[in-house]
Order: sequence, then structure tokens, then C-alpha cells
Amino acid sequence: MAKTTHIAIVSSPGFTHLVPITEFSKRLVKHRPNFHVTCMVPSLGPPPESSKVYLQTLPSNIQTILLPPINKQDLPQGVHPAILIQLTLTHSLPSIHEVLKSKFSEDPLTALVVDIFAFQALEFAKEFNALSYVYFPSSAMILSLLLHAPKMDEDVSGEYTDLTEPIKLPGCVPFMGVDLPDPVQNRSSELYKQFLQRAKALAAADGILINTFIEMESGAIRAMGEFGDGKIRLYPVGPITQKGSSNEADECDKCLRWLDNQPPCSVLYVSFGSGGTLSQHQINELAWGLELSCQRFLWVLRAPSNSSSSAYLEAAKEDPLQFLPSGFLERTKEKGLVVPSWAPQVWVLNHNSVGGFLTHCGWNSILESVQEGVPLITWPLFAEQKMNAVMLADGLKVALRPKLNKDGIIEKEEIAKVVKCLMDGEEGKGMRERMRSLKDSAANAVKDGYSTQTLLQLASHWDNFSGV
Ligand code: UDP
Repeated sequence: MAKTTHIAIVSSPGFTHLVPITEFSKRLVKHRPNFHVTCMVPSLGPPPESSKVYLQTLPSNIQTILLPPINKQDLPQGVHPAILIQLTLTHSLPSIHEVLKSKFSEDPLTALVVDIFAFQALEFAKEFNALSYVYFPSSAMILSLLLHAPKMDEDVSGEYTDLTEPIKLPGCVPFMGVDLPDPVQNRSSELYKQFLQRAKALAAADGILINTFIEMESGAIRAMGEFGDGKIRLYPVGPITQKGSSNEADECDKCLRWLDNQPPCSVLYVSFGSGGTLSQHQINELAWGLELSCQRFLWVLRAPSNSSSSAYLEAAKEDPLQFLPSGFLERTKEKGLVVPSWAPQVWVLNHNSVGGFLTHCGWNSILESVQEGVPLITWPLFAEQKMNAVMLADGLKVALRPKLNKDGIIEKEEIAKVVKCLMDGEEGKGMRERMRSLKDSAANAVKDGYSTQTLLQLASHWDNFSGV
């Protein structure tokens, strides 16, 4: 019988961070049944029900350990969600160490794979004579930014947002400073300090696994191969996404039944991820814009908030439908469906009535749309979403990016224009074709293409590794 190869994984808190790294583990054990994965899951407050349900579906050679939750009262109040995530991981370090000690004192640990926010746990790998890896759940372009950030920090004075020339990362589409991720927008902030710490830690890992694929980001991936004289070992293993559970499909049957009654490729799906929110003013403009466009839509609506990421850590309790303009539902009932807070996204994107996706540009949403060949309208809200939007619109040309007015609002006329253009215009047609070709490349990458080969090579390396 083949010997068991032990891998330990540390995820970030939150369902959308947990899923990609766990799906990676599933793919690993599917190809290598002799692997055993111990997956440690930190959480801020009690773990969400969605995470618990999801973890119960894992195969027996993935063991999940829910780490003791960090008490919200022990962390600073009113800070950016990224700081809370980082602090949750820092506070979870003693429990991660405990688990490693109890599980791997006798059984040898081969590799420790940690989410980028858990970078501080990388140092435990040495103590257990194991290899260390970062799992990067976002694009190669964002990873490139992290790798170049320490040097940019030395070379550039003042705020990046004040730069008048576009920033050019090797192999990536140029972008303006205002499109940088939130933490990089203010260089004197705690958020920026933590971003730089994560950036510097990457160099210490034995490799970086990244949820992307070569055909989507060939320039950035190839250029990073030469970064630091080839010292960075990069493993593109994507696209790795959730499959959507059949339970979820039942629960959200209403969306799918409604889609069944729409013509092929006619519906724009509108969603801002697992926690993105709009202001009341912006909800009104979006509603009017959709109505003006005369296109069909399926809109996942959340109650308004002035902080676009507020629903990540605390979902609003009110019924979101009450925040729509008066009479909107009645006027659009032939064309649209609005569902409160959640839709079975993977199933929706897979439905042949869906012809476009207005998205906040979270990386999972982007990959899910690519896997279904659905072109996009980008509506970035926070984190690294603006850079993703630039890559999709200017680089891959599979998305349209609506313009903001001087107050940061996208007005109804602009919304109607881009929706019509994507769903019914010549430009949209070209985008749909390019997205379909990307879909084929994505399917091939995880079938027997480059991403699967990369994963298998890494697995062989782990199988043959015997510690020091
Ligand atoms: N999602 C979903 N239904 C929704 C909203 C989101 O199933 O109504 C899922 C979506 O399929 C994706 C994840 O939640 O897997 C969102 O991840 P992403 O990285 O796009 O954005 P985040 O939520 O992290 O901002």
C-alpha cells in the first residue's frame, strides 16, 4: 500500500475564503488518494452555518478542524474587514501550532499550505521539517502587485493614487493608482502596513499556489517566473471553484424556475458577491438603469449601506426589497426577478438563459463566470476588485466597465447603455465570443491541461519529499 502523505492547510475565516482552498484539497486527494489533508479553519465568532454544512460534505481523507473562534470583543471595533481577518489569523496562531503538534509529532508532515492571510503560520513548517506554501486565492496580477510592492514602496514617494502615469507590472495590463486595492490606497494606514508584511512573507515560502490558469493570465504568470532570478516557484492550479450544492439549488428553485421561462442568453445576472452592498442612492440608479435598458435581469439585492463591504461580517436583517424605488417590481415584473440577499450563483451562471453578469469582480465570481463563458459588466466595490475590473475590461476584453460620475455614482443612463451594449450590441457579441474561448481553455486547464499537470508535479514532489 502507498504510504500516506500528510498535508496541513490553514484557511482564512469566511465561507468564500474557505471554499477555494478546500476545493483545492479535494482536487489533490482525488488525484492522490494516498494523501491525507488536515484543514484548519479559523473563525471570527461562531463559524457560519454555510461553512459547517459545506465541511460535512468533504471526503474522509480531508479532516477539518474548526479552531476555537476568536471573540469579536477582543478585536478593535469599527476597523476594515481585512484587518479583522488578519487579526483573527494572528490570534489563531497558538491553536494552529497546537493542532500541528498534536497531529504531526509522530506522523511526518510533508507540506504546510496556508492562505495568504495566514502567512505567519509559515514559520511552523521548519519546526516540523515540512515544505511551506502560500495558497493565493486571487489573480496573478494581484500576486504580481504583492511581489513588487516592497520595491515600489522604496521607489515611489507620496501616495500611489496621485501618480499621473499608469502603473505597469511586468506582463500585466497597465492600471491607474486609483485602481489599486484598498490597503494600498493610503500608505500611512495600518491596512497598508499589513499588506506589506504579507507581501514580504511570500518570498519565504517554498512555493505559491495560485487559483488562475495560464491562458487567462499568461503575461503575468510568465513574467513572475523570472521575478527575483526565478526564486519564486509559482504553481497555477486553477480555475478552482465551488460546484454549488444540490440543496442550494432546491432552496433557490425560484430563480432557476424563473430562468427556465426566459429566452436563451437573454438575462443579465446582477450580484455583488457574498457581502457587497450599495448605497440607497446607487440602488435607485441601478434599478432605474435596469428598467431603462429594457433587458431581462435577475438581481440579488441586499439592504443598502454606506460601507460597501459592511455585509461581510454582519448581514442586515431588513427585507432588502423595501429599498427598491416605488413601483419598480410591478413595472418590471415581465422582465426581471429580484431575490433577497442570495442566489445559487453557480447554477444561475450555468443556466442557458443567462447571457451576462454584472459583478463586483470578486475573484471567485470571475472564475465561475469564465467557466460558464458568461461576459461581464464590472462593478468593483472594494479589496482588489478594481484591478480585476481593469484586467477583464482592458486586458482580456471580456467585460464592459461603466463610468462613475464625479460623486462616485454610476448613473442610470450609463447603466442602461452598458447593459444594452453587453446584452444586445456588437461589442457584447465580441465579448461573448472571447469569453467562450476562455471557457474552453479553463475546462482544458483543469482536465488534462497545464493546471492539472502542475498539480500532479507538485503532488509527486510531495510524495518524494522526506523532510530533512
Ligand atoms: N455567491 C453565491 N450566491 C450569491 C452571492 C455569492 O453563491 O448570491 C457565491 C459565489 O458563487 C462565489 C462567492 O459566493 O463563489 C463569492 O466569492 P467572490 O470571490 O466572488 O466574492 P466575495 O464574496 O469574496 O466578495
